[in-house]
Amino acid sequence: LRTYSSFPLSQTITLPSGQTYEQPTGLFINGEFVRSTQHKTFEVLNPSTEEEICHVAEAREEDVNLAVEAAYKAFHSEWSQCDPAIRGKYLLNLADLLEANKETLAAIESLDNGKALASAQGDVGLVINYLRYCAGWADKLTGKVIDTGSNYFNYIKREPIGVCGQIIPWNFPLLMWSWKIGPALAAGNTVVLKTAESTPLSALYAAKLVQEAGIPKGVVNIVSGFGKITGEAISTHPKIKKLAFTGSTATGKHIMKAAADSNLKKVTLELGGKSPNIVFNDADIKKAVQNLILGIFYNSGEVCCAGSRVFIQEGVYDQVIEEFKNAAEHLKVGNPFEEGVFQGAQTSQQQLTKILGYVEKGKSEGATLVTGGERLGNKGYFIKPTIFADVKPDMHIYSEEIFGPFAVVTKFKTADEVIELANDSEYGLAAGIHTTSIDTATYVANNLEAGTVWINTYNDFHSGMPFGGFKQSGIGREMGEQAFENYTQWKAVRIAINNKPQ
Ligand code: NAD
Repeated sequence: LRTYSSFPLSQTITLPSGQTYEQPTGLFINGEFVRSTQHKTFEVLNPSTEEEICHVAEAREEDVNLAVEAAYKAFHSEWSQCDPAIRGKYLLNLADLLEANKETLAAIESLDNGKALASAQGDVGLVINYLRYCAGWADKLTGKVIDTGSNYFNYIKREPIGVCGQIIPWNFPLLMWSWKIGPALAAGNTVVLKTAESTPLSALYAAKLVQEAGIPKGVVNIVSGFGKITGEAISTHPKIKKLAFTGSTATGKHIMKAAADSNLKKVTLELGGKSPNIVFNDADIKKAVQNLILGIFYNSGEVCCAGSRVFIQEGVYDQVIEEFKNAAEHLKVGNPFEEGVFQGAQTSQQQLTKILGYVEKGKSEGATLVTGGERLGNKGYFIKPTIFADVKPDMHIYSEEIFGPFAVVTKFKTADEVIELANDSEYGLAAGIHTTSIDTATYVANNLEAGTVWINTYNDFHSGMPFGGFKQSGIGREMGEQAFENYTQWKAVRIAINNKPQ
């Protein structure tokens, strides 16, 4: 940490392509970029080179208070009362601006997070689609008339909740920003959003677009900072009425307690996973292997719903292991900006160390290292796609979320056996099933404890499909119509009526 008295509110950054862009570096409060009140800043690193990209302002409690005041004022203005179609139009304006800046946004995301540029481009496409989807909902969040007989007229309507605190992780910085602000704004709330300390840049760039889109001051506030300081100030703030969090299960539990102790904020959580990805004997093996690869190596394995526990039926076990290994060894890993790279850098040194620690655990627990298990080069947080086979349910690598390009493979005999194995987890975020039998597919899907089940596909998202966890993978759903349940509350109005006019 450094202290500056005249910290610059934007900085010219040169991208690996040679292009330059202006990166906002302040806090985004009440529609303006500002310095932190205590002039605190922190360093942002490029995980592919371990070099500094820039510094950004760090929000402390006072700054969170200012952001909440701005959001509170904005909420109690026209924003929450206006024709919702107006809010929809603002979101469409924002989506158009994101589209016009999509190449820059994708490059910022790769620079800051380390993900392959193609992945980042995919993320930005999902962001644009999702904001348009939310815009469409803005004027369709309708109420109902409830008939209880002729002596009453009853109606129920959905109202926004107020100022929403939103805390997001570093694996999909811009996508998580959109999953949070899209439904909140469409429903008439205002937000104070904290990005992860390792990846603040894309949301700050997007804040500039929020300004350009003409979204009223105070509706969106972005505060960069650390969990224990900025995050804590958000989760305990008495004027924040709703809290949405994506990240680890341990931090989710902590946040829920803080939210309850402060003012019983409504909480939604999207947490960790150890999702099963199951291949049956009758699967289209080529496609199944592609989905195993996509399941665990996409986004460098830093995916909450990664298909990290692979189950292969005994009849095709050896064949699938062989093809999975070959495909993993052919993935291009390295500089995220290089043509054809599938897997970039892990986002932080801490993640790299954690993953390599699990490699040692896997070996000492007696699992078979099929491929990978090593750092790639000595600059940047790159790791080879890693597969362990012969993994048993009592091993740490089987049950714990590793959050990297690290698959554990287990053999199974029957559908009932794999259902039991798959469900034997504290998590329940997602699952994959690969089979050509509709009976197997539906039987297994209906019996898995998972919020999302992909059949003959994996990591395949759509704005219209709700996403969230069973068990300790979370509370509530994001995306789909269900996201609006988190950001609205029902008001019931009951009117006694005189049947006969006087
Ligand atoms: P984390 O859950 O601690 O961080 C996620 C967000 O929460 C960040 O913005 C962080 O600043 C904030 N935060 C941390 N402590 C907080 C607190 N006390 N109060 C309020 N906010 C707080 O995750 P991490 O430490 O960055 O990563 C650890 C592990 O978590 C990873 O290895 C991975 O297993 C898991 N993880 C899961 C997801 C997911 O999408 N489910 C995302 C990131 C990390």
